[in-house]
Amino acid sequence: MVSLEEVEERIRRCTRCPLHLTRTNPVPGEGGFRKGVMFVGEAPGRNEDLEGRPFVGKAGKLLDELLLSIGLTREDVYITNVLKCRPPGNRDPEPDEITACSPYLEEQIRLLSPRLIVTLGRFAWAWTCERFGIPYRKLTEARGRLYSSSTLYGVVRVFPTFHPAAALRRKDVEDILREDFRRISELLTSL
Ligand code: SF4
Repeated sequence: MVSLEEVEERIRRCTRCPLHLTRTNPVPGEGGFRKGVMFVGEAPGRNEDLEGRPFVGKAGKLLDELLLSIGLTREDVYITNVLKCRPPGNRDPEPDEITACSPYLEEQIRLLSPRLIVTLGRFAWAWTCERFGIPYRKLTEARGRLYSSSTLYGVVRVFPTFHPAAALRRKDVEDILREDFRRISELLTSL
């Protein structure tokens, strides 16, 4: 069986989709994963592309703050994205790019076997619905609740919420994110 490090190395060398032509650095994901929680966003942005690390811009600072608000740090979680390379100009991911990149996220989930997957934003939520057979509902209706699915490698638990980048533009979204993170904290005591 391959290791998480081998998967990350394959991502760094990947040329499966055209995004490899425009990326500066692929962003496989990172985190100490001490509490067994995985956060999945959409795709690297400009700062992430430059540094090769996930969530290092303003949205990343908010994510760090939200984690801290429930007593977690990056050492407690693993943070990654559906796409591992930046779409030019931060445009939305294309379906072909998601299809090409999906085996990496599937492998990361299989290897880490997280207690809880927190999806950040609509692309990560839609991805988990499709992959794990969870009935899709719009994120505004689905967020803040726990969804479970039985897979070949065990039960997968998914908790969708908004992407921190959306909260940078709207205070009401930030308030919802804070509420959802409090719910995540409660869930972690019972899972
Ligand atoms: S986005 Fe994914 S599939 Fe495309 S080049 Fe990067 S790692 Fe490979």
